[in-house]
Amino acid sequence: MKDIIGTSNKYLDINLTDRTWSIYQPEARDLQEYIGGKGLGLKVYYDRLGDRLDSIDPLSPENMLCFMMGIFVGTGAVCSARFEGITKSPLTGLMVTSSCGGEFGLACKTAGYDGVIVTGKSETPVVMRIDEDGVTFEDAGETWGMDTHEVQHHLCKSAKDKAIVIGPAGENQVLYANIASGHRFLGRGGMGAVMGSKNLKAIVARGRAYKIVPADQKLFEKTKKKSNKFIKNNKFSKNYKNFGTNAGVNPGVDKGYAPINNFQQRTDERFRNLSGENMAEKYKTTHSVCMPCSILCGHKGTYPDGKVRQIPEYETIGLFGGNIGNFDPDPIGAWNEEMNNLGMDTISAGSTIGWAMEAGEKGLRSTELKFGKIDNISKILEDIAYKRGEGADLALGTKRLSDKYGGKDFAIQVKGLEMAAYDPRGGWGQGLNYAVNNRGGCHLGSYPIAFEVLLGFLPQYTTLSKAKWVNFLENLYSGINSCHTCLFTGFGYLLEPPIAKFTPKPILKVAMTLLPDVAMKLLDWSLFSEYITAISGNKMGMYEFYRCGNRIHVLERYMNTKMGISAKDDTLPLRFLTEADAGHKVKKVVKLEPMVKNYYKAKGYDKNGLPTPKLMKKLKIEMK
Ligand code: SF4
Repeated sequence: MKDIIGTSNKYLDINLTDRTWSIYQPEARDLQEYIGGKGLGLKVYYDRLGDRLDSIDPLSPENMLCFMMGIFVGTGAVCSARFEGITKSPLTGLMVTSSCGGEFGLACKTAGYDGVIVTGKSETPVVMRIDEDGVTFEDAGETWGMDTHEVQHHLCKSAKDKAIVIGPAGENQVLYANIASGHRFLGRGGMGAVMGSKNLKAIVARGRAYKIVPADQKLFEKTKKKSNKFIKNNKFSKNYKNFGTNAGVNPGVDKGYAPINNFQQRTDERFRNLSGENMAEKYKTTHSVCMPCSILCGHKGTYPDGKVRQIPEYETIGLFGGNIGNFDPDPIGAWNEEMNNLGMDTISAGSTIGWAMEAGEKGLRSTELKFGKIDNISKILEDIAYKRGEGADLALGTKRLSDKYGGKDFAIQVKGLEMAAYDPRGGWGQGLNYAVNNRGGCHLGSYPIAFEVLLGFLPQYTTLSKAKWVNFLENLYSGINSCHTCLFTGFGYLLEPPIAKFTPKPILKVAMTLLPDVAMKLLDWSLFSEYITAISGNKMGMYEFYRCGNRIHVLERYMNTKMGISAKDDTLPLRFLTEADAGHKVKKVVKLEPMVKNYYKAKGYDKNGLPTPKLMKKLKIEMK
């Protein structure tokens, strides 16, 4: 095996229309300023299509689909399996970036490529294979129509082969179809539909041609040792190791962010049946994770029918549990498997079904879907993927459905993307996150609910300091998604260094709430930049890393403003702003407006939510 020191800096540039390819090499300055992964993907998209962003139909050959591996993958760094997808979303009409922990990333990188950029459209369904010699194209043949599990099994002939694939939902261009790699997914925003629109069934990378060697091996080993220690000692990581993301179920009941009946309520004791603790015992769970990983949040277990299945993530549990009035975890395991095989986003699917149930109750449209009725869920999932009957309607997602039938106030989406399973009335920072997040109703833009509830550093029901924390975490997470590593490393890396660890929690809590700028100074995220320095050989400090994250986040916002986004879109479904849950002891709704105003200030946007020329100049982003 030959060595690649740091990164190959080679990206496959593929045009499917004429089945040609070449090697693209970004400039050194772009690598320094945009890091890789999400950042570099957005920059490439902007450089090539930035002057006509608004006119690009996401499902046309013109749309570009980038898969960017980032710097960490292949090096053996902690939680380094991850890579990023970047495109214009057919669901939202905005930029969408998505992170995946599947093995395609490692195979692509060790085939010698840091990324794959796809444009055009194949005349007939196609499979692309990439190896150290380049790209070959073969007819998709019988694989067109296969589900995501079957097609990977069919195409990956050797242990060196790892793929990204679509299932029937992607082929049929369901607007929230996803892309699979192993049992991990580029989940949100309909990237699978973009791949389907290009007639691209799969990309198979044959890896292990190269070994990825960090430029500074000594620093790399030191950084890795420290990062492993921080993760091992961190309580949040331990909880995820034991119970996965479903460790969030019981706090959802206790603190009132659990989604019940399309978010009509925010707590229900029965929701506890779906907890990670309950499922660990019931299904005798073991780990099933991205590789490599030290946190180990993924699990699988044995269901009562004897089948071993992936344990669904908290989002799936929430949206196919309380959200549709179901409190039995058994069918959610089976539906999760079905959706993964069909290749569609479980969050958007669950939210759309929840909306349809409430719209049916209110007489807006006729449906057999009802809260608590679960015998027709499996069928509707298949009908969505194949766009049959009512499924063809639900394949549009909640925004388009509520435009068509009414019921916008309870369409649980922001900017066209269905919201995840945290009720924002249970954490106002999380509400701000949803409202301003670049890709729409996603929980992970800044994920403040972790600080508001899971870690308990910020009070739930206050607007104080939330704007500054959302801004800070967005910038940090944009950097993390560009290295690229798992967002969950952030908790150990931020909270285990000595100052944060040994400051008594009540003091840290007061500082984070009343003096956020001081509290941010107490935090140390140098592990991310140390890894970058060790792997690439280019020195980067933690504040430079943060600035890169800021630049990446603002570029994404700027691109979205070119597609019509402004302050009018930075809001929440009316339900969260006007309806307190009568069944919950705290009768409060989200006070969004002052948080959004403060957020624009923290970010350097004008009153209409647009990045100012001064900010763009400071971040060295060219305005188009
Ligand atoms: S913590 Fe979970 S999501 Fe993150 S890399 Fe590990 S298994 Fe994947």
